Amino acid sequence: MPADPLAWLDAELDALARRDLLRRLRTYDGPQRSAFKLDNRQVVNFGSNDYLGLAADGRLALAAAQAANEQGFGAGASPLVVGHSRALERLELRLAEFEGTEAALVFASGFAANSGVIPALAAEGDAVYSDALNHASIVDGCRLSRAAVYVYQHANVAALEKMLQAGRGFRRRLIVTDSLFSMDGDLAPLAELAELAERYDCMLMTDEAHATGVFGRQGRGAAEHLGAEAGVHVRVGTLSKALGGMGGFAAGRRSLIEWLANRARSYVFSTALPPPAAAAAVAALDIVRDEPARRRELLARSADLLGRLRVQGWRIGPTAGQIIPVIVGESARAVELSAALAARGFWAPAIRPPSVPDGEARLRISLSWAHDTEMIDGLVASLGELAM
Ligand SMILES: *Cc1c(COP(=O)(O)O)cnc(C)c1O
Repeated sequence: MPADPLAWLDAELDALARRDLLRRLRTYDGPQRSAFKLDNRQVVNFGSNDYLGLAADGRLALAAAQAANEQGFGAGASPLVVGHSRALERLELRLAEFEGTEAALVFASGFAANSGVIPALAAEGDAVYSDALNHASIVDGCRLSRAAVYVYQHANVAALEKMLQAGRGFRRRLIVTDSLFSMDGDLAPLAELAELAERYDCMLMTDEAHATGVFGRQGRGAAEHLGAEAGVHVRVGTLSKALGGMGGFAAGRRSLIEWLANRARSYVFSTALPPPAAAAAVAALDIVRDEPARRRELLARSADLLGRLRVQGWRIGPTAGQIIPVIVGESARAVELSAALAARGFWAPAIRPPSVPDGEARLRISLSWAHDTEMIDGLVASLGELAM
């Protein structure tokens, strides 16, 4: 028998399982709602990034169905090859209007946006300064860029400034950061970063994936909330979290968007977002504009929940909003806690390395506007039992 060249896979999977790091895919029935049936068990859903309760909103489904009826489902090819659909053109105009920028460009996902935008902005001879807790898609974008990459300690403006002072002789420099960190829920110091970018003549790019629709008076995100929008040159966001759909985007001045449409490889060499997804995103942006109470109520309830969990003695990171990390340390403990909660009817995923550093495993509670008081009270009561 010849050796099996894939035999190493079983060994590696076993090794992951022994370290409590093996992920198993679950299946849910019906729509993504604040309560749903996961692996045939009815649970309240504190795992979704559907912060405004739009993923299952009938208005998005209707907009998508209408677009599918009129324009079909598929987009056919890359937008540069066959053009972009009316629905996608409309979405890009709406995104620019929403963001208050000259233009916007839609990618297949937020991951595609980050992994394409960074290499389009920085290449060999350039430098990228990246927060240590930035999302994997930013990390990959940095790697793909072939620029010199400097990872600065999380949210540490002084450490970044030292690096900026030391880093001379580059052609161009880019600072990139999540605006609301996905695993800790804290905000980046965007006003300070904008100041540094200006002082050291750097581009500043923010990824508002978790803040779009939630933070800011008009729901544009953390930069709006912190009054730092003017200093952000490149805004990236996703349509797949608070906006309840699928797709990613970049927004900024017209020349930036034109450059990205020519040079971002994940845009150029990938099929355009289908018309139904574009139409659903426009419907979601309408709701963000017309129902600002959703984001206000969500943040108020998040602050309330945070206070109640802290009183129970849980170690919770410096979260600023709807992402509440309950840090328990070892992966096994996080998995145990998640399972114990699930048995009580509440789903909150265990987040383990490599999503977070070793010894920082946690339960990640994502609050949605769609959670009612009873659901939140139930979660608090269950966590109270498990804390003892
Ligand atoms: C989820 C996420 C992305 C990726 O967005 P998708 O649209 O889901 O691909 C990018 N950046 C951050 C910070 C995220 O949390």
